[in-house]
Amino acid sequence: MRAAGLLLAAACASCSVQAQTQGTRAPQKYEALGRDILSELIAIDTTVDRGSTVAAKAVAARAIANGFPAADVTLVTPKERPDSSSVVIRLRGRSNARPVLYINHLDVVPAKREDWTFDPFRLTERDGWLYGRGTIDMKGQDAAVLASLIRLKQEGFVPARDIVAAFTPDEETRAQWGVSWLLKTHRNLIDAAVVVNPDGGEAAMKKGRRLYVGVQTSEKIFVTFELEATDKGGHSSRPTAENPIYRLSAALARLSTHRFPLHLTETTRLYFERRAALESGQTAADMRAVLRQPPDMAAVDRLSAVVETNIQLRSTCTTTMIDGGHAENALPQRARATVQCRLIPGETQESAAAAVRSALADPRVQVRVKTAAEVAPESKPAPEIFKLVETVTRAMWPGVVVLPDMSAGASDSVFTRAAGIPSYGIDGMFDDLDDARAHGKDERIGVAVFGEELEFTYRIMRTVGDLR
Ligand SMILES: [Zn+2]
Repeated sequence: MRAAGLLLAAACASCSVQAQTQGTRAPQKYEALGRDILSELIAIDTTVDRGSTVAAKAVAARAIANGFPAADVTLVTPKERPDSSSVVIRLRGRSNARPVLYINHLDVVPAKREDWTFDPFRLTERDGWLYGRGTIDMKGQDAAVLASLIRLKQEGFVPARDIVAAFTPDEETRAQWGVSWLLKTHRNLIDAAVVVNPDGGEAAMKKGRRLYVGVQTSEKIFVTFELEATDKGGHSSRPTAENPIYRLSAALARLSTHRFPLHLTETTRLYFERRAALESGQTAADMRAVLRQPPDMAAVDRLSAVVETNIQLRSTCTTTMIDGGHAENALPQRARATVQCRLIPGETQESAAAAVRSALADPRVQVRVKTAAEVAPESKPAPEIFKLVETVTRAMWPGVVVLPDMSAGASDSVFTRAAGIPSYGIDGMFDDLDDARAHGKDERIGVAVFGEELEFTYRIMRTVGDLR
């Protein structure tokens, strides 16, 4: 942590952190607290049918019982949705500078007992693992954020600016009553200069080896189109070339081979530059070659053949649903397909629609927007954010690289970015790239990984208030 003194010159906050650098796990007392919070949250079913109000109240009670004044713990509930409360906790800082906001969702995707080895709604420790729905997405992180807030409070730590943490519902579903609702109706409560969203961060390992801590600065924007071909139909004994199922199928076949142009952003350029250092041979060379001006197109082709790198290089569209026809002995009058696109930030719904139309190459196939894009800009990969994460990462796990990251999926950061608040996904809970269980069966985190996550979250939270 010595570097912290250099990077955050004004941050004497970092001085006493040095006392903690010996271990990479949180002190026993706070690891126990983190585990206790995690266990409580896992036991509260926060799937869409149950809502998050019970969990929000539990978080509020936990904060108040551990030293937060009730005035700094605010429960807010949409009138229309009593099951969708959020709770906002404020650790008061020493200045009026706009706060740092942590956003944390409390809801989880459903899990069926019969599909799992253990009860998904009961934290179970087995062979060094903690099992339960939400351990990795994201009740583990919720517990780390809450335990860190409590630890800072109990240590008497006063950050340079307020640190605010919102625990919210409805991220895994329609994202209607969580962060987007809070921004619309309670902006004052959660207004901030910068957002940290642990849900967007990705700490990755393979075969037990820690590789990188990904800081999410942007995410692909999704837009869904409905395609439709129609015809007057008729008896199946009198087929015609106008059959909408054939027309639509032929158009979709053309779409399937369409490749969007290479589109690198500040984030993905830095990503490939640093990722190349973790790779070797042809892959490393290709990652460097796509960054050249002009880019090496053979390298682009090779990286495009791998899903993981292809989605970092360009926007994509793919067909996700199809239906057509109305009787087995009738010519179809209608065929429809759903196409979902994931766009590089900076591209628009209109540019995607134009690309889809041109790839379909059949003006009689109608293209309509089914789900409109929620547009958000990239948050600049700001050097001071990266220095902060690098300082904590290096002190805890020497050799682990910090990478900027553009998620292909979506998180609540889309709303805070759209509201003009730079937002960064930061998390230190290492997950195996070859064994991703978020949303899946037997979701779990390592006991030691969770202990380190508690410490990582604490160290980031302790210094993040010093950002200028
Ligand atoms: Zn999540």
